[in-house]
Amino acid sequence: MKQILTIGRYFKSRYRQMVRKVPISLQGFTCPNIDGSVAKGGCTYCKNETFSPSLLSLEKSNINMNFNLTYNPILDKQVETLKSQFYNYSKSHNDKFGTNKYMLYFQSFSNTYAPYDTLETLYNEGLKLPNVVGLSIGTRTDCIEDRILELLGNYVKNKKEIWLEYGIQSIFDSTLRLINRGHGIAGAKELVQKTRKYGIKVCIHLIYGLPKENNEMMIASLKEVLSWGIDGIKIHPLYIVKDTAIEKMYNANKYEPISLENYADLIVQSLKLIPHNVVVQRISAGAHDDSLVAPKWCFDKNIQMRYIRDRLLENGIAY
Ligand code: SF4
Repeated sequence: MKQILTIGRYFKSRYRQMVRKVPISLQGFTCPNIDGSVAKGGCTYCKNETFSPSLLSLEKSNINMNFNLTYNPILDKQVETLKSQFYNYSKSHNDKFGTNKYMLYFQSFSNTYAPYDTLETLYNEGLKLPNVVGLSIGTRTDCIEDRILELLGNYVKNKKEIWLEYGIQSIFDSTLRLINRGHGIAGAKELVQKTRKYGIKVCIHLIYGLPKENNEMMIASLKEVLSWGIDGIKIHPLYIVKDTAIEKMYNANKYEPISLENYADLIVQSLKLIPHNVVVQRISAGAHDDSLVAPKWCFDKNIQMRYIRDRLLENGIAY
């Protein structure tokens, strides 16, 4: 039986105990693919409120982060939000499961797309919180500056565990154009390799079921990103939520979501290819509310995971 290095197993072996990733969503953060810097409207499937429900509880900010903002008047508020999200989450996980080590996961939008000083303050404040072993930062490959890598590399030198999670989604420029990604694949491999030279771990995000992609293309994306020497991977199915561009494509019969059976087959093939030392952080996704349009099997992640796990076990893989 091949045992997959899940994030839980990875943390257990590294820290000899459970470590929880604490999702952090801060007001003012956005993405160059939304604010018009590289494109408008965002990726065709993007609705961050559905990906990160904690965003809904945040007061809307009139100030948006970007690299050119010279003064950030909401920084104190952001620090306050960071702390309150951490303490709420860690308290509930400590009460329920006895967890007492945490990694902050900057999840919503592009979390390196802000003035350098803002990022430095937020990361420093985050790392000072009790029992925080490190940071995991979700971002795009076009939102990284060398000085950010240097900053993160210094945390690594100080024994903190730092991950950058790059949304790659597909290695095919034709697909990236179709989903209005606002960047191509050029330079991604070099960036991943440069990031790792700072001791920062890299987790790549891929999506299966993107428009006009066949199974061979999805597996080709996986093989390519694995060849870059990555540390972790998240794969998830594309699901459609309300009020997105892809919903319009779906309603116009221009897009057919991936089936659960096909997705599970692809996950079996994928986990056979992923080396033992790459942390598989995620293989499922969904929206458990009425924002989900299709496919319906993305409504209940437990049912989804049960089916996928069964298919994996039939193929000698323990997830
Ligand atoms: S990169 Fe992320 S935040 Fe930006 S538009 Fe795409 S999905 Fe949304």
